[in-house]
Order: sequence, then C-alpha cells, then structure tokens
Amino acid sequence: MSNIRVRFAPSPTGFFHIGSARTALFNWLYARHTGGTFILRIEDTDTARNTDESLKVLVDGMRWLGLDWDEGPDVGGEYSPYFQSQRGAIYQEYIQKLRDNGRAYEKDGAVWLRVLGEHYMVYDEHKKCEVEKVKVEPIVIDDAIRGRVEQKVDQDFVIVRSDGSPVFHLVNVVDDITMAISHVIRGEDHLPNTGKHIELYRALGVVPPVFAHIPLILKTDGKGKMSKRDKGALIEEYQTRGYLPSAVVNYIALLGWNPKDATEVFTADELIARFDLPGVNSSASRFDEQKMDFFNTEHLRRMPIENLTWVVAPRLAEAGVIDDETDEDYLQSVLRLCQEKIRTIEDLPEFVRFFFKDDFVIDTKTLEKLRKKSDPRERVKELLPLLEMLGVFNEAGLDELIDKTAESLGHKKFDYFPVVRLAVSGQGGGPDLLGLLATLGRKRVIERMQKFIVMEI
Ligand code: GLU
Repeated sequence: MSNIRVRFAPSPTGFFHIGSARTALFNWLYARHTGGTFILRIEDTDTARNTDESLKVLVDGMRWLGLDWDEGPDVGGEYSPYFQSQRGAIYQEYIQKLRDNGRAYEKDGAVWLRVLGEHYMVYDEHKKCEVEKVKVEPIVIDDAIRGRVEQKVDQDFVIVRSDGSPVFHLVNVVDDITMAISHVIRGEDHLPNTGKHIELYRALGVVPPVFAHIPLILKTDGKGKMSKRDKGALIEEYQTRGYLPSAVVNYIALLGWNPKDATEVFTADELIARFDLPGVNSSASRFDEQKMDFFNTEHLRRMPIENLTWVVAPRLAEAGVIDDETDEDYLQSVLRLCQEKIRTIEDLPEFVRFFFKDDFVIDTKTLEKLRKKSDPRERVKELLPLLEMLGVFNEAGLDELIDKTAESLGHKKFDYFPVVRLAVSGQGGGPDLLGLLATLGRKRVIERMQKFIVMEI
C-alpha cells in the first residue's frame, strides 16, 4: 500500500449532492489508482443539521455508488474517531500547542491565530473602521489541478469562537494532520480557505499536504452553480429512479475529468486504471441530464443479462408486472430483446408490461392511423390461420410467412407489421417486431390476435 492517504470530508446536510459525490469519487479513484487509502471523515460539528438520517443519506449514497472507504464510520481505523464531534480533545491539544508556541492568543473571548510579520493599522472602506493588518508575502499554493495560486493571509484570524467552539479551518487542518492526509482533493469553493489552512500548517510546524481543487458543476444552462433544487442534483434521485450506479459513476467522473481520448463509456475499474489528477479540468463543467441518460442506456446495454435480470426484477415485481410464478427464462428473453431499447429502469415496467399481462388497451391513435391505410382486422384475420400452422415459430419463420402472405394477397409486408404489433401489444412502438413475436410465443400471439378480431374497437 502506498503512503497516499486521501479523504472525503462531508458535512451531512440531509442531501448527497452530485458535486459532493464527484469529490468523493475523485478521492476514491485517486486512492484506488495509487494503491492508497480512502478515508471517510464526517465533519459533523454543525449539530443542528447533523442527524442520523443525514448521515444515512450519505453513507447509503456512497455505498450505492460503490465508493467503499478503508477507514471511517462503520469500518473504523487506526486514526479514529472519524466524526469531528468526537474529536474535541484532539482540537484542544492542538490549540494548546499554538498557545504554547506563541502562535495563538486570546482576545475578546476568542482565540486568534497570529500571522507572523509587522502588524499595522489601516482604515477599511467596507467596515468603515480601522483594522489590523500584517505585512506578508503571498502564500503560494501549488494546486495539483489549478496550478500556481497565490493568496495573501494578512490578518490574524479566529480559530476558537468566544463560545469555545473551534472554527472549521482549525478542525479541518488538525484532522488532516492527525489523519496523515497526503492529498486534499476538494471542491473549488474551499480554495479561498487554503491560504489560511497553509498558515495553520506552518504555525504547527507541519508540511502541508498537496491540494487539488475540483472546479464547480454548473447548471445545464451554464448560469450558476448546480444547487440541490436543480433536477438531477441529488444522488438519492438516481437511486430511487433506478439508474445504474456504474452509469452515474461514469458520468460524474467525466464531469470534470478528461480521459484525453474519445473513450466515454468506462467501468469503475477502467476509471481506476486511468484516473489521475492532471487529467482533471481546471474549468467548470456543465450538468447535462441527457448525457446522464446516455450513459445509463450504454451501461444497461453492456450488462450481462443475468445481472440485468437481477437488478430489474424487484422493480418489475413492485410494479405488479411479474410475480413469483413468472418464468425466469421468459423474463430473461424479454429483457434480452428490450435491453437495447431501455433508457432507464424506471421506464422498464411500462415498456415490458404487455409481455406479462393480457389486459393492455389498444392505443386508439395508432388504430385510427392504421385504419386509414388498410383494415387492421382483415390483415390479422388473414395471418391468424397461417400462424397456427407455422412450423417453427421463430423470427426467420415469421418473417417469411408474413412476406409470402403479403405477396399472395397483394398487400405490402408493412401493411401487416404495425397491425400485428398493435394486436399483440396494444402499442404503436416497442422492441423489434419479429423478436417480440418470437419471444411472446405462438400461444400468446394467437390468443391476442383472436381477441383483437372480436374486440369492439
Ligand atoms: N466539510 C467540508 C465540505 O463539506 C469539506 C472540507 C474539505 O474537504 O476540506 O465542504
């Protein structure tokens, strides 16, 4: 195992935002790519928002995406505890260190970090009063994604509030030090904090980790940052809508990381093999729901049929499409036929219902359209006896039969196709017709055609 130690340090808010998920993913990919350690640390000092339920949303989301952590809640580790709320004694120890070495002092009930250099007073236009500043050289951040960034930390700053609670900057840095974090990979919104963090590392005599700030995810129209209210912003949404986690992982990896060739569809293992920090874009990316759907379709298509069956069966059962009596082979052949066509698992129950249920209704719009060209009932009547006699009820046999019937009766082959589809499925569209008929099988096809002929439509 390498010495690389990275962490995902969310503050549970009750939501698992796509931006956070991407931060988690990049840390995880980096750890797995380098043979390092991935740590989940919970920044739960804002007690009002931190409930068990908020934590559960996060942990469930991470597990669903397959982002397993080597240290953290549930799994423990040698740097425990992994909850900030349980690390108070460690923070006190580090605050004491700063007091002891003269870098922290108390003023107005709060504890401040002293920035080294000549302090002087200057009038602040915004605050409309005199403020104390420090003459300093800028701090250089050699960001692994952004490149060189300079920041001036030219004012002492609070590290413990007057109510005794240590501020984010302090606890974040102390945790990273005590957990031996080597790379801090986090959202760009934290870049403005990094100067202060480096100042704290220096005050504690510790070499700072490598920083890598990931650019924002913008809304589809490019106007502003994706917020939790935007459609597609929450991982929970993909979980409940039946997206494949591998597709979500694939899409969010490419929302910021550039594989530098035309490859788009990746499994998690392929991402691990190729991911690296220099490949992360330094400019923001835009969220695109259609692109997410594209990846979902691609991943659905590539899934071995047994896995697909296993993933979708609970949804089909929940929707009342299949039950314990459903034949497993029949289910698999239906899925094999439809696999190419489905976009999301959410759409699947409606898409395949007619394979399992006879109570579908005939789509009247399609019927009206077909009636304008020929008499649907007549076409079905012509085919029915021939289908009963057809030797082998497979795609080639059906194709030939419809072809010959059309020819001998002076119709077109495509006078039959949509009519047959409507009679056996009730719909104007769907999976490939010959495959559909072969999958339904002779018995169902014939029964449905008989019913269609006598139906009052
Ligand atoms: N708790 C911070 C957040 O959720 C993480 C800060 C960091 O990664 O350093 O944004």
